Amino acid sequence: MKIIFEYEEEKNTGHIQEEEEEDICIELPSDIVREELPIPNVNEIDVVRHYTNLSRMNFGVDIGFYPLGSCTMKYNPKVNEDAARAEGFSNLHPLSPEVCTQGSLKLMWELKEYLKDITGMDDFTLQPSAGAQGELLGVMMAKAYFRHKGEKRTQAIIPDSAHGTNPATASICKLETITVPSDSRGNMNIDRYREALSPEVALVMLTNPNTLGLFDENTIEISDLAHKNGTLMYCDGANMNALLGITRPGDQGFDMIHLNLHKTFSTPHGGGGPGAGVLGVKSFLSEYLPVPQVVKRDSVYSLDYTYKKSVGRVRSFYGNFGMHVRAYSYIHSWGTNIRKISEHAILNANYLQSLLKDTFDLAYNRQCAHEFVLSSKRFGQKSALDIAKRLMDYGFHPPTIYFPLIVPEALMIEPTETETKETLDRFVLALKKIRSELKEDPEMVKQSPLSTPVGRLDEVAAARRPNLRWRPSQRQTKVAVNEKSP
Ligand SMILES: *Cc1c(COP(=O)(O)O)cnc(C)c1O
Repeated sequence: MKIIFEYEEEKNTGHIQEEEEEDICIELPSDIVREELPIPNVNEIDVVRHYTNLSRMNFGVDIGFYPLGSCTMKYNPKVNEDAARAEGFSNLHPLSPEVCTQGSLKLMWELKEYLKDITGMDDFTLQPSAGAQGELLGVMMAKAYFRHKGEKRTQAIIPDSAHGTNPATASICKLETITVPSDSRGNMNIDRYREALSPEVALVMLTNPNTLGLFDENTIEISDLAHKNGTLMYCDGANMNALLGITRPGDQGFDMIHLNLHKTFSTPHGGGGPGAGVLGVKSFLSEYLPVPQVVKRDSVYSLDYTYKKSVGRVRSFYGNFGMHVRAYSYIHSWGTNIRKISEHAILNANYLQSLLKDTFDLAYNRQCAHEFVLSSKRFGQKSALDIAKRLMDYGFHPPTIYFPLIVPEALMIEPTETETKETLDRFVLALKKIRSELKEDPEMVKQSPLSTPVGRLDEVAAARRPNLRWRPSQRQTKVAVNEKSP
């Protein structure tokens, strides 16, 4: 096959010599020439139905209740999407000159002001794209801080109820993790903590509320002891959903905190991104923040690259700006009522906890914050998995299971503030029904889900050897699926 490009050189009548008209022939290598594409010959309506059916095989917070603990799958108001799609924001080039981008710079600056107010911190960077990246930045900054002070500290204290990213981040930054166990109320064991503190400890990383959904009752004492030891306090604030307007980590002695805008501040997530794991710090750490920083001088906003001790960049440009717009819109629409978010999140979690604590076992019997953890241990090994799968047949997304690791057969439930009492009541009914099924027909529960497009998958194989070309004839599930499913 020969493709002929024909073009005519512009005829110059000036001082440049006139050139002859010319044909250029390019022979394409045969292996890149496709004779015929295997495109099916179908009606438009069949294409529409195919893709609409595919889209309905998925689950999202706009479809149903999504109590995935630690993930804060709240409803994301559509007004935030409108704001993020406004042309002035969505079509802006990140390298546009500052005189043309005053509105966007102002938005980032004001978002930082809001977050400072909410957390009690003195400065923020919006650059990190995920909670784990915010943590990475925080620990890099802590290391730079001690390096400048001429101190060599090599350890991080982390309770066993912390999110897994905390020890992962510490070890990626070459800090040795000292794990402190929880006490009978789900707090970090304070005596074991005292023993662990030494001049080697660079920072204490506290997920607060922790992964049991419990606020550490000794937070102030933990901070005081750390500071007396010259140790920094890091707060994993990915789940701020129980603290907004009620208490501020900055007032509890924390020196740094990362927030997940894609959890608490209602920017969509669950599909793998984009996210925003913004990091706030006390003023003595400000100069270590990444550059550029948005600053305001004489009512003019600009980007400052002169932070002398800056650890550099952790990503391109200014972070995921679209997420900043959504979070700004969300915070702005709540205004001084922001406390209501957390009050309702706490109320919903405690309502569910009180109705379910006798259905399954409550890991720690205490008022919870934004989430709580049940254990289905008395129904045997793998029962948490069976319950989670069966919930799908009742139209609910499963809770987080087998996390935190310190609770056997854990079901970690986070309803968020955006659910109604009716939805929560239906969820309770479903779980009570499943408990009866576990007693009366455990084999059926083990086969579930029975009504979803695919049945129970071999999850290890699905992760290691994903088959992305799924067709009905290739279905390898062990159970019969609903006749009606596509
Ligand atoms: C979700 C979460 C993280 C990690 O956030 P990513 O954005 O997924 O990196 C860290 N800590 C806690 C407590 C979390 O809930």
